[in-house]
Amino acid sequence: MSTIDLPFRQIHLDFHTSEHITGIGAEFDPEEFAATLERARVNSITCFARGHHGWIYFDTKAFPERRHPHLTRDLLREQIEACHARGIRVPIYTTIQWDHYTATEHPEWLVVDEHGCPRGTSPYEAGFYRQICLNTPYVEFIKAHVQEILETMPVDGFFFDIVQPQDCSCRYCRAGMEAEGLDPTDPIARRRYGLEVINRFKRDLTAFVRRFNQECTIFYNAGHIGPRHRAVMDAYTHFELESLPSGGWGYLHFPITMRYARTLGLDCLSHTGKFHTSWGDFHSFKNPAALQYEVFRMLALGAKCLIGDQLHPSGKIDPHVYELVGSVYREVERKEPWCRGAKPVTEIGVFTPEEFAGAGPWELPPAIMGATRMLIEGAHQFDILDSASDLSRYKVLILPDHIPVSEEFAAKLEAYLADGGALIASFESGMNEDKTAFTLEALGVRIRGEGPRDLSGQLVRGRHFPRGDYAEYILPQGEIGRGLPETEHVMYMKGMEVEALPGAEVLAPIVKPYFYRTYRHFCSHRQTPSSGEIDGPGIVRNGRVIYFAHPIFSQYHQNAPRWCKVLFLNALDMLMPDPLVRHNGPTTLEVTVNEQAAEGRWVVHLLHYIPERRGQDFDIIEDVIPLYDITVSVRVPRTVRRVARVPEDEPLAFEQRDGRVTFTLPKLVGHQMIALEMAQV
Ligand SMILES: [Zn+2]
Repeated sequence: MSTIDLPFRQIHLDFHTSEHITGIGAEFDPEEFAATLERARVNSITCFARGHHGWIYFDTKAFPERRHPHLTRDLLREQIEACHARGIRVPIYTTIQWDHYTATEHPEWLVVDEHGCPRGTSPYEAGFYRQICLNTPYVEFIKAHVQEILETMPVDGFFFDIVQPQDCSCRYCRAGMEAEGLDPTDPIARRRYGLEVINRFKRDLTAFVRRFNQECTIFYNAGHIGPRHRAVMDAYTHFELESLPSGGWGYLHFPITMRYARTLGLDCLSHTGKFHTSWGDFHSFKNPAALQYEVFRMLALGAKCLIGDQLHPSGKIDPHVYELVGSVYREVERKEPWCRGAKPVTEIGVFTPEEFAGAGPWELPPAIMGATRMLIEGAHQFDILDSASDLSRYKVLILPDHIPVSEEFAAKLEAYLADGGALIASFESGMNEDKTAFTLEALGVRIRGEGPRDLSGQLVRGRHFPRGDYAEYILPQGEIGRGLPETEHVMYMKGMEVEALPGAEVLAPIVKPYFYRTYRHFCSHRQTPSSGEIDGPGIVRNGRVIYFAHPIFSQYHQNAPRWCKVLFLNALDMLMPDPLVRHNGPTTLEVTVNEQAAEGRWVVHLLHYIPERRGQDFDIIEDVIPLYDITVSVRVPRTVRRVARVPEDEPLAFEQRDGRVTFTLPKLVGHQMIALEMAQV
């Protein structure tokens, strides 16, 4: 396991610079560059050896033909020297699979689809997005290029960009698959082989770097970290979570990815950008409140911070950008002592469908997005897991909507339950991969029928129909229905048709509509109203397990019906009546808890920023809206001797009883940490 402990205040300084611009680096002033960074309290900046245009930004002897034709100086070396003189670390960026120069010079190295066509940017489009295959002699170039960097410059780290799973039918991949006895015409075999090619490349390049440098950090970027990284962690020293909320990732990608990545044991660094939108958005500024939220949220979730910028081709650093960066990084520097070595305190584990269904950076499974939102809004402390995760630390596990359970996984979950754990599952979770039966018997249900199909013969269960064609109703009652009127509530996406096994208890039934909405029969604008006729169980309890027949998590991601969340949070409350955190604030208040074991304290983070869809493209934060008199109650493992706002070091009055400590924060402006100092064991 790596012992890398990354700096907190980082910059990634993009420099993809066209050959059609002259005077590259002509206005670079080493003193001004490093002094500006230091003033902004930056302590690590990733600078460019080579970018997506393919040009090199230092005086290369190995590849003079690739040196940017208008580069006026040994830019990278000067950046490193100036930064090192002020104690600022400089990891080195080089591109891997997007390289315009190589793609043009060596079209035979491009990833080719099953029709024989290169993927990505076509000849008459602007852009350098053609993917190069890592099963080709290009790898030899990469090694020679990396070797030159290692032999001629001080290397703090490498950021190898664009190393993505490939599905390639180039001649090297076809020959490689044949040699391994695989069928290149089979798309599944091709993708599996493509992932193996990428993983092999990473391990090979890491071993190569280690021949020259045992210390430097090494990271391979593909815009996302997920369950597929578990198998190849040995090639990484740490994880960087590229996740620009305004750049396509949205505000949910980072918390989901971080809550998974941090369970793998490597130090994590999260990216955002100074850009209004995304990378390459020159002369734009992120709203200060948004930058505060994005950076402070990294601290709250246990990540180190990185802000992306792009250097002007002239090499002149923009002082206005670093005023913005400094306004946030000065705060980070003050907050750091309460974040160093901090580990999240969590009690809920949520499995992600990504392990089974895959995911792109911008298309996470809806169920994990809905589950994450509900849990954050409920102030719950949770991690995101895959089937290989250690389950022992969690009080409750959640299997949202689409978690297939093999015999082996079922045995692991049953053992967890036998040890006193609790579990919530919904919709198709707990079924075998063919979705013909429930393998997880602890759910206390079996399939009654597959449910209706639409006119084209597709199963309708779990699907979103804009007019609720197959909607049905749930009837909340008793403890599970607390806070909801005891009457039908629509479930827009049709649920599973199940029956409760003997010994299991139906907590809420499903009520049928008069009929489904088709051309044959329909009523009004949307779903048909309730017929009043009960149609099987909607929520079933079997001991410490609660099963929801409906895809409540995907539904919440679709249009956020509050009753889906209320039912889920009630179920959680029934299984875990004494949660780590309770508060009296609004659902827009985010709360996390981290432990600093060495300091003997817990640090509670409160965050209050409200993203709003002001333009069509993405969410905006402009204002910080204060909250007053927020009372927070935290379940603590031992006596708390002091509660204080930090870094202000201002004590707060608190009460301690029944294993919980309760305090009131008079005013919350954006982000506040509260230290709970524990008595010695
Ligand atoms: Zn290939």
